[in-house]
Amino acid sequence: MNFSTPIEEIPRVGPQYQKKLKKLGIKTVGDLLFHFPHRYEDFSNIIPISEVKVGKLVSVRGKILDIKNIRTWKKRMTLTRAIVGDDSGAIQVIWFNQPYLINTFKKGDLVFLAGKMNLKGGGRYLSNPAYEKLNPKELSNPDLVHTGRLIPIYPETQGLSSRWLRFIIKPLLSKLENKFLDFLPEKIKKEYKLLSLKEAIWQIHFPDVLKLAKSARDRFIFEELFILSLAILQQKMKLIKERAKAIPINVELIKNFVNNLPFKLTNDQRKAAWQILKDLEKSKPMNRLLEGDVGSGKTIVAIIVILNTAKAGYQNVFMAPTEILAKQHFKTLKTFLKDFNLNIGLITSKGNKLNNEKISRKDILEKIRNNQVDILIGTHALVQEKVKFGKLALVVIDEQHRFGIEQRAKLCQQKDFIPHLLSMTATPIPRTLALTIYGDLDLSLIKELPKGRKKVITKIIFPREREKTYEFIRQQIKSRRQVFVICPRIEPSNNIFEKNPSWREVKAVKEEFEKLSKEVFSDFKVKMLHGKMKIKEREEIMEDFKAGKIDVLVSTSVVEVGVDIPNASVILIEGADKFGLAQLHQFRGRVGRGKEQSFCFLFTDFPGKRTSQRLRALLSCENGFELAEKDLKIRGPGDFSGQRQWGIPDLIMDALKDIDLVEKTRQAAKEVLEENPELKKYPLLKKKLEEFRKRIHLE
Ligand code: ADP
Ligand code: MG
Repeated sequence: MNFSTPIEEIPRVGPQYQKKLKKLGIKTVGDLLFHFPHRYEDFSNIIPISEVKVGKLVSVRGKILDIKNIRTWKKRMTLTRAIVGDDSGAIQVIWFNQPYLINTFKKGDLVFLAGKMNLKGGGRYLSNPAYEKLNPKELSNPDLVHTGRLIPIYPETQGLSSRWLRFIIKPLLSKLENKFLDFLPEKIKKEYKLLSLKEAIWQIHFPDVLKLAKSARDRFIFEELFILSLAILQQKMKLIKERAKAIPINVELIKNFVNNLPFKLTNDQRKAAWQILKDLEKSKPMNRLLEGDVGSGKTIVAIIVILNTAKAGYQNVFMAPTEILAKQHFKTLKTFLKDFNLNIGLITSKGNKLNNEKISRKDILEKIRNNQVDILIGTHALVQEKVKFGKLALVVIDEQHRFGIEQRAKLCQQKDFIPHLLSMTATPIPRTLALTIYGDLDLSLIKELPKGRKKVITKIIFPREREKTYEFIRQQIKSRRQVFVICPRIEPSNNIFEKNPSWREVKAVKEEFEKLSKEVFSDFKVKMLHGKMKIKEREEIMEDFKAGKIDVLVSTSVVEVGVDIPNASVILIEGADKFGLAQLHQFRGRVGRGKEQSFCFLFTDFPGKRTSQRLRALLSCENGFELAEKDLKIRGPGDFSGQRQWGIPDLIMDALKDIDLVEKTRQAAKEVLEENPELKKYPLLKKKLEEFRKRIHLE
């Protein structure tokens, strides 16, 4: 028997139990041993029977002096009543509806019992205690599983009791304990004071003391983060070996550009642009994330860098998540770069442009290959699939941070270098995540907004203020403002047939749309937008909204970040309590881009203290990064990263809250890789890492 032995081969696990185990995702012995308890009951303090007090959870050891079954006619159940005594005294014990116990115990048996002392109908009795018969041969050092020690309590599913799990797991541990191959290097275990795998797996199931259970858990968290860090650092090392084009900084050019802008750059914009230009000066491929709130002016930073690259004779590609955003960027780049004599191209599913002219797909692809297009703008889908570049040196990606080495390599046909990569996002990604699941990116932050922006007025709206708020919004529309309505996020339910919440989300949008278009805003033009609509249809609606042909746009949370609609001055968020703070802040950023005063209404049906406290953080805090850190502390990182997308287990996601731990494991991974980049010295670790890669798709 080993870790990969199927559960069918475990003695005493019948077909019924096999089914139940599989429901928990447990298919092998290894799965079962890694089904960890979520808490422990402390039955380790064994007291003399004379000291047992009513109302207390107690643990005793004694002899069965008497035992019999009693039928109670009134309640139609069977009681098993025993008298158990030790040197100090005796107590009554009652088990309910377990008549078979009469066959488990006989007079004279030595037992451990743990349970609560009750007082009812004038009698004192130990009620339904956990029990364990003592083997007379092991009196001095009994092998206890259910009583007389710290007892593991497992996350249970119907019909799989902790008692049963203990009963199965403990013998397996004994049988297999010498087969636990520890893949953590000794050096690392020593340096970071970690338990060995054998110790850890024993202690997490059957801890000697609680502190050791915690040490065991720490080791497992460490090991998961360690593997994650290894995977990411190894990927990064592979990238460092690649070459990119070193682009010299043309200071004159940039000064000229910046001095002719219609506004003054913020300090953060300057700093970010400089950091990026410095990266590009090197022949080491850049891997940088530019984070900045909605409206903080990331685009202009990208334009500065693109200008420098283009004028050095290399190509740039600017990728947007949607065609409407691609078009918006195309217009912006053309305007800002009109005096620099550059060829700017746009490809969309509906047609392509080169500067101000329409151009066929074939012709533009040809020109891109021949290095006659300096800057190409398009969606990820189109660019990645269809385009071959002649001299691509820089890829800028807007609002989508998942982009890996492989895709990057695919984009460029030139053999001797790969492009630099700049990712831009308004999602404030906390540092721990940027270091880990986002692939150890370098970070540039734009924390300040350009001067003179009007503050968006934010309000939490409880049910009784709903009507009043609708009336206010109607007045806004009458003065020709436009409104976003965001429908609540829908959590996946426990029903396994309904893992994908997006259909229900669509239903919610449809219902809200019905209500708003027929009742609340019946005299205005209301449209809806959701992820199950055709892309073309979605883009048309966004175009219409942008052109002012729609008053109210009802949508799910997933649609269209980054589109600039200055006339939209109200955003109403239903079920605001269901969203993360950072995301709410991002929604808020969709308004407040024009001259008018803007409003953000957070609707919630739960005026509970905790909810409103959390939402209130939005009233006082204007900073996406602070909000993101708050979110990370309160809700964990799942919200940022689309946990399901990555397939990262809860245990790691949770550990990612802890920056110290993340830094520590990263350090450990670095040490190991620096000494042994291919992990040849650690074959077990290498194997583990390969398994991890298969399980988790970092890119
Ligand atoms: P985001 O960071 O959300 O992508 P954009 O780059 O779209 O933001 O910028 C939002 C708006 O702010 C644009 O109209 C842009 O021209 C303007 N802008 C950018 N930088 C500044 C600045 N320093 N001062 C004033 N306006 C600016
Ligand atoms: Mg943007």
